[in-house]
Amino acid sequence: MTTPSMRKYPCCPGPTWVKAADFGHAEGIDFTLGRCDVCSRYWMHLWTPYAPDAGYVALDDATAGELVTIPAGPDRRRRLQELFDV
Ligand SMILES: [Zn+2]
Repeated sequence: MTTPSMRKYPCCPGPTWVKAADFGHAEGIDFTLGRCDVCSRYWMHLWTPYAPDAGYVALDDATAGELVTIPAGPDRRRRLQELFDV
């Protein structure tokens, strides 16, 4: 498992991130999937009060598509933990 590269801001300048899905919490981190309004790239926003600069992680279309098909619950939390190494 490689740690995903963290970026503080999405790919394109300006407020381009549009919320696509809320994945709730895993390991104290709040996961929200969004998509860039300009280039359509998926970004997962990670937020935790313990690391306010957690920021955005790029997701490919296949991974984003997989995550939205997993129902909320332990399976999705486990997958988030695997993907984001939390
Ligand atoms: Zn973009």
